Amino acid sequence: MASKGDNVAVCNMKLERLLSMKGGKGQDSYANNSQAQAMHARSMLHLLEETLENVHLNSSASPPPFTAVDLGCSSGANTIHIIDFIVKHISKRFASAGIDPPEFTAFFSDLPSNDFNTLFQLLPPLVSNSCMEECLAADGNRSYFVAGVPGSFYRRLFPARTIDFFHSAFSLHWLSQVPESVTDKRSAAYNRGRVFIHGAGEKTTTAYKRQFQADLAEFLRARAAEVKRGGAMFLVCLGRTSVDPTDQGGAGLLFGTHFQDAWDDLVREGLVAAEKRDGFNIPVYAPSLQDFKEVVEADGSFAIEKLVVYKGGSPLVVSEPDDASEVGRAFASSCRSVAGVLVEAHIGEELSNKLFSRVERRATSHAKDVLVNLQFFHIVASLSFT
Ligand code: SAH
Repeated sequence: MASKGDNVAVCNMKLERLLSMKGGKGQDSYANNSQAQAMHARSMLHLLEETLENVHLNSSASPPPFTAVDLGCSSGANTIHIIDFIVKHISKRFASAGIDPPEFTAFFSDLPSNDFNTLFQLLPPLVSNSCMEECLAADGNRSYFVAGVPGSFYRRLFPARTIDFFHSAFSLHWLSQVPESVTDKRSAAYNRGRVFIHGAGEKTTTAYKRQFQADLAEFLRARAAEVKRGGAMFLVCLGRTSVDPTDQGGAGLLFGTHFQDAWDDLVREGLVAAEKRDGFNIPVYAPSLQDFKEVVEADGSFAIEKLVVYKGGSPLVVSEPDDASEVGRAFASSCRSVAGVLVEAHIGEELSNKLFSRVERRATSHAKDVLVNLQFFHIVASLSFT
């Protein structure tokens, strides 16, 4: 892990070694702060189902396992529910086509710092193929073999032509790195005074957009080599409705308002140097539909079955919406569960505690606004490979 004094160029090189959502099962963990993502995923299951209908079923006498992958699986239960859903849906399709189902393999893939241990402990027990039907009927069992695959999805992760179905939710908005020009003081794209691109200058946002598009192109290139003919992909990532990339929508409100102001508090209080703050940038880009489409079309390996912007809703789960302090806490926890690891690597744990307590205080005093205006939109892509 990078120490307090590391500059961001070093952090950049290490982003894929460093980045993870907060592991474990504590208050600020991803496992404990991803119920909203679960709800958003549930509201899109009909779109996932449509994509699964496009996957080719192998009807040969002894077919290889049907192989599904979740990319950017993180360490909560969401990924397990999705894989269960995929396996059940494909099994049903085999049954209604009158074909004996093959065995199923699921790969859970994320960066190497991901808390795979917490994830593996959440897995239900395996029930073998011999009692597949009972297993499919019973919840709380698993009818597929599993493995964890550490590595960046911006590179190859699997042997060629071995995967039937790729799923990835709420992950592709994470860039492979903060563009170098954004942290280079001599560059016109230097993101002075900010920790995210929401409201930043045009040159800075253009650098982010280029990085996003270059990363997505690498992602598609790698998957096109790995997917079987007749396979498909279902991709969901944070997106925006505005054509203007300086308006990052929900991501902009999460990282560009109270989080930004809390950094400024630390600078004003003399706890963090302005330059240190300016060296920190959230490596997230919420693309527009057009940003995304241009890359898929230029790559040309996948047919676009569906490409839409979908309203996900608030990332906060609060039981008492009128309780401002609960809203503030939920905002700070949500922010920390996804960005906390990077913040700690940049300024250490003690200052990070100070930062997030200021995020909480600020969000508490704007609770109504946070509840109403913090809304996520997602780009949903259903792609097939023929
Ligand atoms: N799919 C999960 C988790 C989303 S959180 C859910 O639906 O709840 C986003 C995840 O993307 C994180 O775990 C993060 O580590 C992962 N991620 C970000 N960049 C990545 C990369 N380049 N390669 C693989 N995983 C990445």
